[in-house]
Amino acid sequence: MAGVSGKFMRRRRAWKLGSECREPCIGTIEQTGLCLIIGQRAVGKDEEGGSMSNPDSPTRYQAVGLHTVAKLPYWERLDASVREAVDVVGRVLPFRTNQYVVDHLIDWSRAPEDPIFQLVFPQRQMLDVAEFNEIRGLLRRTAPTAEEAAVVNRIRRGLNPHPAGQLTHNVPTLDDRPVQGIQHKYRETVLFFPAAGQTCHAYCTYCFRWAQFVGLEDLKFEAQEPDDLVRYLKAHPEVTDVLITGGDPMVMRTRVLRRYVEPLLSPELEHVQNIRIGTKAIAYWPQRFVSDDDADDCLRLFEEVVAADRHLALMSHYSHPVELEPAIARTAIQRIRGTGAQIRMQAPLIRHVNDYPDAWVELWRTGVRLGLIPYYMFVERDTGARDYFEVPLTRCYEIFKKAYSQVSGLSRSVRGPSMSAFPGKVRILGIATLRTMMEGTVLAAVKDSLGPELGDPDTPRLVCDFIQARDPEWVKRPFFAEFDEDAAWFDELRPAFGKSRFYFEAEGDREAPHALPELTELLLE
Ligand code: SF4
Repeated sequence: MAGVSGKFMRRRRAWKLGSECREPCIGTIEQTGLCLIIGQRAVGKDEEGGSMSNPDSPTRYQAVGLHTVAKLPYWERLDASVREAVDVVGRVLPFRTNQYVVDHLIDWSRAPEDPIFQLVFPQRQMLDVAEFNEIRGLLRRTAPTAEEAAVVNRIRRGLNPHPAGQLTHNVPTLDDRPVQGIQHKYRETVLFFPAAGQTCHAYCTYCFRWAQFVGLEDLKFEAQEPDDLVRYLKAHPEVTDVLITGGDPMVMRTRVLRRYVEPLLSPELEHVQNIRIGTKAIAYWPQRFVSDDDADDCLRLFEEVVAADRHLALMSHYSHPVELEPAIARTAIQRIRGTGAQIRMQAPLIRHVNDYPDAWVELWRTGVRLGLIPYYMFVERDTGARDYFEVPLTRCYEIFKKAYSQVSGLSRSVRGPSMSAFPGKVRILGIATLRTMMEGTVLAAVKDSLGPELGDPDTPRLVCDFIQARDPEWVKRPFFAEFDEDAAWFDELRPAFGKSRFYFEAEGDREAPHALPELTELLLE
């Protein structure tokens, strides 16, 4: 996908408001960028003649999934093998997008390579060949539902839907019982999962919560009411931050969201200074903040949070700069920022979606211009269709470095590439040899004192640190790992200099690594 930068930033479709719109235009569009035909959906044509909605017009949310995708005007233009792949893979892994994403974020002339198409549409290589063929065979002979369900479930169980420990680690207790829907890993931050916010306006193909979206009930991790959260916070004055997360909490109606947010503003919880909401709604459904019928109520709620002297941060998931292009996406940003809330941008680095530096340069630059704060570049996690999406750590580092070196200081608030691993958030700081790190005499002295363990001074090693850690003493203490150009996750790294374990690991940890202990931290902290 490298080398296509620049193209994606140009608006690719000619939306001619007033000329092709079937509704009467009241003439304010050019000044405001907003169509004011309340409740009417304007319809236009893209360059190839497919109908498309006006992104700036108030529209109702319309999901697109396996049963409705064939109605899209773009569908028949796709190669038959691409359509088949969506149908087959979409039986196993979750598939949901919506009319806004389809009409305004995907460049159909570039599908299936288009990054947003890759982001929301299932792809053939997300399953291994034998599994793909098995499901395809079932569909071709219209196998009984129960038979199909059994095969689908078997394949899902093989995709690591239950990362070790995810429902047991970090779950705090209250009155000697686990508190449902809360995680507390780092001293100052509590994660809260409201039941009504455990879905999204569209599903990312790489989502590490995929198993919940396909209805593996035993993976549900959510709280119905905020009462336990409030009691827990009262008992923990060290907590300064609450992250409300999902899924996407912004799928909730404002009155439901209010039920969870309002109690956090009580004077008894004054120590909760920062309320964060993890969301991809500004990218996938900006109407949530502009034209949904409770959009204004939502902004009022945000204002109340700020008026209560709390910092409100939308931890916004942006995968690609195209998500910042539509006028309504920018209007949503302006309206949210107008409440006093801040928007921080973060995403994992994903092969086929954003695995080239220019995507990040453009994302951070445009984001900063719009008032967003670049926050994290994450590493893709070890679940679902990871083989299709993963990028080796050394490549992640190179992409980060190249992008970071091209942006101004205002974008350099971003941190990464970062892995939310069992001991904490591990960042790849660099690739270095001993010779590049030490001048000759120092190197000679170190070699003398450490002996052969030091190895070849010209061998590259990964330099890492913790941005956040279970033990605060580990934070920002560099450590070294052997250079491994295939390693794509922390568990695959080996300590450098012949050590049997990293300094923060206990005896035996290496043999029984904690694979993926948390559900949420990749995207949302
Ligand atoms: S990555 Fe985030 S926005 Fe995307 S499907 Fe998963 S929870 Fe939803």
